[in-house]
Amino acid sequence: MRKRRFLPDAVYRGRFAPSPTGSLHFGSLVAAVGSYLDAKHNNGIWLVRIEDLDTPRTVMGAADDILRTLEAYGLHWDETIIYQSQRTAAYQAAFEHLRIDNILYPCACSRKEIADSALHHGDELVYPGTCRNGLPQGKTTRAWRVRVNDARINFTDGLQGNIVQNLASGIGDFVVKRADGLFAYQLAVVVDDAAQGITHVVRGADLLHSTTRQIYLQRLMGFATPAYSHLPIAVNAQGEKLSKQTLATPVDTNNPVAALLRALAFLRQEMPADPGDYDLDSVLSWAIAHWNKDRLNGIMQIPA
Ligand code: GLU
Repeated sequence: MRKRRFLPDAVYRGRFAPSPTGSLHFGSLVAAVGSYLDAKHNNGIWLVRIEDLDTPRTVMGAADDILRTLEAYGLHWDETIIYQSQRTAAYQAAFEHLRIDNILYPCACSRKEIADSALHHGDELVYPGTCRNGLPQGKTTRAWRVRVNDARINFTDGLQGNIVQNLASGIGDFVVKRADGLFAYQLAVVVDDAAQGITHVVRGADLLHSTTRQIYLQRLMGFATPAYSHLPIAVNAQGEKLSKQTLATPVDTNNPVAALLRALAFLRQEMPADPGDYDLDSVLSWAIAHWNKDRLNGIMQIPA
């Protein structure tokens, strides 16, 4: 029997939501461990959701590989895994709901047209609103966008403090259904977090600036907004996020204790005095008991 690390009346529901674009590397292990420890320290439920919505980026076998790695690390999920690739009907229903309210509009712009006419806001391209009042003559629908009007979104991140964004000047009307017919990550993540009753999102700080778009969609759809905490991301010597693109190496499944201790050190957690005496289960129990998220306050990235 697996040890159940939560109380039956748990009010905390957290999740780890990897995209199966490759094996679990140190950066994604940190997100998994951080969300797991925060959930378990708070007697919560911890779920895993496979974000295989972006089928062109999905790598065959990667989801199973990630799940096997999580198990090898003792990070056991509490309920059935959901796969975004099987949830199109739920995304379609949310999309129809917004479309009926006339909050969505079809957009004919190609990437190049947007890049040519968009305003820049930091690294982001702000959609200039070309198709907002109807498709230009002779153009056909490529993607669907949500109107942001003058929405100013404000939230307090559990680690990164107060975040304010004016969606109109910072992002512009954003895509909820892509030109290739797939629903966009921003829509899917909001529908799934609501469907799974997620109360706490703990994930990498690379997603901090997606959060305002997600809160905006939650409000349009009448969903509750979870508490967000964005963990520092692991970067390489060039300051790039560890990812498949930056050729991050997969974590070792043969020596999970060593990698877990590395993840704990990365997360600036107190370390056990004699780590050599610990096996996997006792490291995890120790880490759950000693988890202190505040040690990461305000930190956006750390060299791995
Ligand atoms: N699937 C996303 C990723 O792997 C994470 C989404 C989320 O945690 O909201 O980057």
